[in-house]
Amino acid sequence: MFRTYCHCTFCQASTGKAYADDIITLAKDVNVDGGGAITFTKNKALFPMQRGICQQCNAPVISYSTILPGLKIAVMPTQLCIPLDITPKAVAHVFYHRKTREIEDKLPKFNSYFSSQLVTVKFVLLLLYKRLTTHKSIVKE
Ligand SMILES: [Zn+2]
Repeated sequence: MFRTYCHCTFCQASTGKAYADDIITLAKDVNVDGGGAITFTKNKALFPMQRGICQQCNAPVISYSTILPGLKIAVMPTQLCIPLDITPKAVAHVFYHRKTREIEDKLPKFNSYFSSQLVTVKFVLLLLYKRLTTHKSIVKE
């Protein structure tokens, strides 16, 4: 898994903040249970996201997106992952062209839709590659 700060307008609207602090991993690794019902909505982007909002508190819970054929990712607010003790360091600011304020840190900042998608795909592929080289059974025969 990895972590990004997303400045897109959807994230700004759903979090009420300048950007969303998210953990991203493979959808198949995530098991959502426990809490209440989640409502999913789909936006009309090139790589549409199914955005899951908690029906009780209206906060983002989990979103899914198919970034490559057969490769679905899950995006979760880091805040929800803190109790699980899974908070990697952030690797990038994405959709930074939508920023509402400058962020003074040393993370790379991606200033277009395409570069933001591309860096996300890059980190997902790195994740897969890491698994491929440490657990040989990831590829289905
Ligand atoms: Zn976003």
